[in-house]
Amino acid sequence: KVNDGTLAHENSIQLQTRARQRVPGGVHSNVRLSGPQPYVERGKGAWLYDVDGRNYVDYLLGQGPNFLGHAPDAVLDVVSAADRRGLVYGGQHALEIEAAEAVCAALEWPDMVRFGVTGTEIVQAALRLARAVTGREKVIRFEGHYHGWLDNVLVAEHDGAWGVASEGQLPHHLDDFVVLPWNDAEALAEALRRHGPEIAAVIMEPVMINAGVIQPLDGYLERVRELCTAHGAMLIFDEVISGFRIGLQGAVGRYGVVPDLATYGKALGAGGTVAALVGRRDVMELFGHGMVNHSGTFNGAVPAMAAVTASLAVLREDPPYPGVERHGTALMAGIRRLAAAHRIPLRVEGLPAAFHVSFGDVEVTDYRSLQLLDLDRYARFSEVLVRHGIWVAPRGIWYVSACHGDDELDAALARFSKALVAWSGG
Ligand code: PMP
Repeated sequence: KVNDGTLAHENSIQLQTRARQRVPGGVHSNVRLSGPQPYVERGKGAWLYDVDGRNYVDYLLGQGPNFLGHAPDAVLDVVSAADRRGLVYGGQHALEIEAAEAVCAALEWPDMVRFGVTGTEIVQAALRLARAVTGREKVIRFEGHYHGWLDNVLVAEHDGAWGVASEGQLPHHLDDFVVLPWNDAEALAEALRRHGPEIAAVIMEPVMINAGVIQPLDGYLERVRELCTAHGAMLIFDEVISGFRIGLQGAVGRYGVVPDLATYGKALGAGGTVAALVGRRDVMELFGHGMVNHSGTFNGAVPAMAAVTASLAVLREDPPYPGVERHGTALMAGIRRLAAAHRIPLRVEGLPAAFHVSFGDVEVTDYRSLQLLDLDRYARFSEVLVRHGIWVAPRGIWYVSACHGDDELDAALARFSKALVAWSGG
């Protein structure tokens, strides 16, 4: 069936109505709360298929994890073979070691790894470890960066100030965090001059993908590294999105600055439920000595470890990065070209593996300048894109996978063009 721009998908509507009887909002993650939406029947490669027989070129990729596309055989074969020996043991097994060795070998700089299940909880392990190592309490973080949904890291802006983002979230959980503008080395230097001896860690997305896909300015990460070292604060790179996506070594490889600790998730397991904290031996061994607690029933479970080893084997033996860069670059250029032809002021910025599309025409270097764009307008446009067979999220981030090739590029641009024609500019 063609994606003809209508939203008449009876099967999806029926399922959504049924879901809402048993599941609040019909979703299990508030990020996915929305109006009517297609229900997915299956995914393969770069494509999603819904329960009403329509197909979509997928540029959301499960919010990032499906870097090798949906249902990658090379990963599924390894995972299903491993799963037949049991899913979770409460005891150690060789696959955990293989996965840890594979992560260290791929990234090169870290000595040790702890696996967890989600990005949210592995960030908590990083913060706890940094506080234990330094004996300090405060953490510097940045406007627009996302580090999970827990009480101490979820924030929202209220008239220029940062505070809680949810009912039920107690403000005192945020007391030990200092929120600074990102890409502003002077702001960090000043904060460290003021609070230096109290700062346990500086945590950031080394490329700010969660707000606008904004890259670090030249020299910024180097300066951040110097400042953290000078003040004895641990530098934590949250590479949950960028890791294994913008290169095998993520932002560390791309920008050449090495943190003390880094967190990974999403692309690491090619869709498997897994996250990882990595760092130097002397720091990470605090877990090993039992001085710092990091626990979890499902940490190191068989499906996750199999997914990591299989995913990293593909990334190293058959690197998808050149193809991803090629597709992403062509897609970004194609969207810009179509927008110009239709005289629609779309802004397309970021990296080929993860870029941002929005309405507006201003230079964006941080969260504040991002707010000058018309983000709400794009959110409405994203619904038109979905109706025309391009699977994207309202917040404007597009992810490219190893499975996006020429056919997908042609389909995506043809569909984008139709969506632009249908877009009334509302
Ligand atoms: N850190 C970053 C940078 C993220 O983008 C996310 C999720 N989008 C998280 C942490 C939290 O990861 P999860 O959703 O797996 O808990």
